[in-house]
Formats: sequence, structure tokens, C-alpha cells
Amino acid sequence: MKELIAKGAQLIAESKKILVFTGAGLSTESGIPDFRSPGGIWDRYDPSDFYYQKIVSDQRAREKYWKMSSEYWEVMRDAKPNSAHLAIKKLEDMGKLLAIVTQNIDNLHQKAGNSPEKIIEIHGTAFAVTCLNCGKTYERGDIEQRIHNGEKDPRCDDCSGILKPATISFGQAMPQDKMALAFEYASQCDLCIVLGSSLVVYPAASVPEHAVSQGARVMIINLTPTPLDNQADLVIHDSVSKALDQMVNLVSKISRR
Ligand SMILES: [Zn+2]
Repeated sequence: MKELIAKGAQLIAESKKILVFTGAGLSTESGIPDFRSPGGIWDRYDPSDFYYQKIVSDQRAREKYWKMSSEYWEVMRDAKPNSAHLAIKKLEDMGKLLAIVTQNIDNLHQKAGNSPEKIIEIHGTAFAVTCLNCGKTYERGDIEQRIHNGEKDPRCDDCSGILKPATISFGQAMPQDKMALAFEYASQCDLCIVLGSSLVVYPAASVPEHAVSQGARVMIINLTPTPLDNQADLVIHDSVSKALDQMVNLVSKISRR
């Protein structure tokens, strides 16, 4: 393990434009359960109830969606960045961070102190709510307060349109502008660090694939194997927070020499 950490630190030390790609494995280490894991949300709710078309067209599906979503929101609202999030902030402080492309919706990169313009949330954010009709944006906490006060299917103040957390649901189109930006950064980076993603959800997983195809080096830290492991310069199957924190601290030492 020590050798792998040293190799990772060397890769970071040699890089100037790092693209960090993060997934659910990073959030679970901050106590946010993975939807897909056993005992997760999808063991208690049926994901087919939450397809975008159903949320849009069926009030009862919407009420159910808000019930599930509110339960999950409280965990995310209170979650704190772990040492991996803080290590990514250190990469920005070192002037090495090109951007973070994240599949997570939990605002933890912002909480860790990374610049908002460096964070590309390709699956949206749970911290905002948007009106599907007029596009008005609300703070999530304000809408949750209304739900807490008894509203089951909250509507837009301005146009009475349907409100939905600003996350990308099943069957909902990916944000084209953010995906384009993610691919642009994947073309530019000299190192892509994949953290806590099994790289099985598309089109998100095509971002690190694009970085590899454009000649970037790749480091993957994830508990389980990924389809990109055989093309990576370094693979560590372990806790992200433990490995990345040690690695980034070692980079500071290498740089000081
Ligand atoms: Zn509206």
C-alpha cells in the first residue's frame, strides 16, 4: 500500500492539470448511503416509481418522490466533507486542479471549499429545486420547510408549475452544457483521478474514458474493480479518503524537496 501511495504522489507531482472525477464511493465515506447498495433507498422504494415521465405526469408519484427525497435530503444536508474532499481542495490550493466532474449531488465539494466554477455536477444538485415550467430556482431548505409544514406536492410561487429537486432523474436528459464542459476538461487534463466510482453509469463514465483516449494518465481509487482498471497508470482498491489524503500530503513533501 505504501508503494502505491508513493506512486500516486509521484503522478500528482508530475501533473499540472488534474481532472478529478468523483462518484458515490466518495459520499458513502461521509455517511451518505449509496442508492444502489444493499439496504439503500432502492431496497425500500421502487426506482421505476421515480422515472422522470412519471414524476411529471402523476401527482401520486410526485408525492412519493418527495417523501423519499426528503428522507435522503436530511442526510445530505447534515453530511460533512471527508479527508478525500479536503485533499481535493489541497490540489486546488497547489494550483493543480483543472476541474472536478462529479456524479454526486450532495454539495460536499463546495462544503470542502473548492471554487464553485471548478465543480461540474453532471447529475445536478440536491441543494436546489427548480420549477419545471418557468425554471425558477429555490433553495432546497425552503421547499423542505414547506413540505414539513404539510405540502405534499409543492408548486411554484410564480406559475404553479411542478417543482423538482435539481437532480437528474432516471429518464431525464443530461445537462448538455455541463457534459460538454466535462468532455472539454477531459481533453485538456494531463491526469484524471477517478475517486469512488465503479464507472458503470453512462454517459458519466465516458468522461474518464475520454481523458484516457486523449492521452491523459489515469489513477483510480475505488473499493471494487472498474472497466477502466486495465488502462490505468495506477489502481488502488481501498478507501478513497484514506488513500488520497496520504497521497496528497506526500506530494507536498516531494514538492518541498
Ligand atoms: Zn414556475
